[in-house]
Amino acid sequence: MEDRNFLDTVMEFEQQLESMQKQFEALKKFVALMMEEHQTLQMENRHLRTRLEEVLSSKPEGKVVNDVSAKKVEIIDVGEGYDNLARLYHEGYHVCHVHFGGSRKGEDCLFCLSFLNKQNG
Ligand SMILES: [Zn+2]
Repeated sequence: MEDRNFLDTVMEFEQQLESMQKQFEALKKFVALMMEEHQTLQMENRHLRTRLEEVLSSKPEGKVVNDVSAKKVEIIDVGEGYDNLARLYHEGYHVCHVHFGGSRKGEDCLFCLSFLNKQNG
C-alpha cells in the first residue's frame, strides 16, 4: 500500500468514526425522548384506568361490568355517563374516538366538542 493511500484510508476512517459518533449521540437523545414519553404514557394510562373505573362504577343501573374493554365502547356509544366524559374532557383528555384518552395538551378538540354535543343532544 502506498503511503498516500494509507493516509487517505486513515482520514476516511476518522471521518466515519466522527459520523458514527454523531449518529450515536442522536440515538441516545432519541432513547431519552422515548423513555420520557413512555413515562408520560404510563402515568396517563394509570390516570385513565382510575377514571374509567369511576365512570363504570357510577353507571346509573349499577350493572356489574366484567369485561371492561368490551363494555367501554358500548357505554360511549349509548351516551351513558355524559357528565363523566365531559369531566374527563375538562380535565384535559380527549374523549373523541380519534384520540380517545390522549392528552389534549391544553388545546380544544373539535372532534371531542362535536362528540360531546351529540351525546348531549
Ligand atoms: Zn379529541
